[in-house]
Amino acid sequence: MIPVNEPLFIGNEAKYLKECIETGWVSSDGSFVKRFEAEFAGYCDRKYGVSVVNGTAALQLAFESLKLQAGDEVILPSFTIISCASCIDRLGLIPVPVDCNPHTYNMTIEHVEAAYTEKTKAILVVHIYGLPVDVDPILQFAKEKELYVIEDAAEMIGQEYKGRKCGSFGDVSVFSFYANKHITTGEGGMVVMDNDDIHHSCLSGRNLAFKPPRRFVHDELGWNYRMTNLQAAVGVAQLETIDQLIVIKREIGVAYTKLLTGVDGISLPVHQTNYANNIYWVYSIVLDETFPAMAGEVEAKLNEKGIGTRPFFWPIHQQPYFLDKYPHWGSLSLPNSEHIAKNGFYVPSGLGLNQSKIPTICKEIKDVLKSF
Ligand SMILES: *Cc1c(COP(=O)(O)O)cnc(C)c1O
Repeated sequence: MIPVNEPLFIGNEAKYLKECIETGWVSSDGSFVKRFEAEFAGYCDRKYGVSVVNGTAALQLAFESLKLQAGDEVILPSFTIISCASCIDRLGLIPVPVDCNPHTYNMTIEHVEAAYTEKTKAILVVHIYGLPVDVDPILQFAKEKELYVIEDAAEMIGQEYKGRKCGSFGDVSVFSFYANKHITTGEGGMVVMDNDDIHHSCLSGRNLAFKPPRRFVHDELGWNYRMTNLQAAVGVAQLETIDQLIVIKREIGVAYTKLLTGVDGISLPVHQTNYANNIYWVYSIVLDETFPAMAGEVEAKLNEKGIGTRPFFWPIHQQPYFLDKYPHWGSLSLPNSEHIAKNGFYVPSGLGLNQSKIPTICKEIKDVLKSF
C-alpha cells in the first residue's frame, strides 16, 4: 500500500530528541519549546508564537483570545475541517459558513460580503489544500467593518501570498504540525500574533490559566494545551529544513499534474494564480459533475490497487451536528463546496513519498477512471 501520507525527517530531529532524553528536559519546560516558538514566529513574520498540542487547540485559543460575545457571528468557509467550526460553536458564537471558488477551493471576498450582517464580528480565513485565500480584499473589508480576522494557515506552512508569509495576516493565525503538514511534530500546533493581549490570553489559556501571585487560585479557566520539549525539538529540526520540504512538495505536485493533464473527467489543482504558487499540501483530484461514479467508488478501486486516498472535507453546512442545531441550514445551497466535497479526493502526496512511484500511481488512476 502506498500511504496517502508519509512524513519526512532529513535534519537534526534525532539529534535534538536525543538531547532532550539525555538532559531530562522532556516536558513543556524545556528550551526547545521557546526556541521553536521564537523561530517559527520569526519565520511567519510575527512577533510571538505560542506552541500547543495541535491545530484544533490553536484555533480554540485564538478564538478565546478575541473576547467575542455569545451570539456574535463568525464567517468561515464551509469547505474546511470541523475544528474551524467546533471552536466557534463551543464559545457560543454562531458560525456562518460560506461557499468557495470552484477552482481554488477557497472562500472569496464576494462570499464574505454576501454573508455579512450587523452581528458579524469576525472572519475565519482558511487556506485550503495548496493555494492561499486572496486575502487582501478580505483584510480591507474587515478593516472597514471593524471585524477580527483569524487566519488558519495549517495547510500553508511556508506558503506566500504576494510575497508575504501565510500566517502573518489578520489578528491571529494558527498552524498545525500534524504528521501530514509541511512540518510535523507528530501532533502539535502554534498560535502566532503581534498583539500583546492576544499573546497573553493564549499563554494563559494553554497553561490552565495559572497566574501569580498564587498559582493554584483561579479567576479564569484554561486548558492544558502545552507542547512538550520532545515535540518542539522535532519542530526546530523540521523548521531548519523547511525550504527543502517545500521544494519536495512542489515537485510532487508538478509531477502529478504533468502526468494527469488532459485526462478526461477530472479537474486538477490550479498551479498558479496572480497572487500565489500552489504549495500542494495535498494533491487533489475532483471528478467532473458528469463523471459516471462517485469519488468514493473511485477511491475504493484505487485502494484495492494499493494506492492510498482520502476523501475531501465534508462541508460544515452539511454536518449532521449543525443541521440538528440550525435546521434552516438544510436549505442552504453552497454548490461549489458541495460539488468538491462529493467528487473530490486526494492521492499519495506526503513528503516521504518515493517520487519514482508517481508514474505508476498515475497509470492506475487513469485505468481506474477509464473503468467507469
Ligand atoms: C490539520 C488542520 C487543522 C487541525 O489541526 P490538528 O493538528 O489536526 O488539530 C485545522 N485546520 C486546517 C485547515 C487543517 O488542515
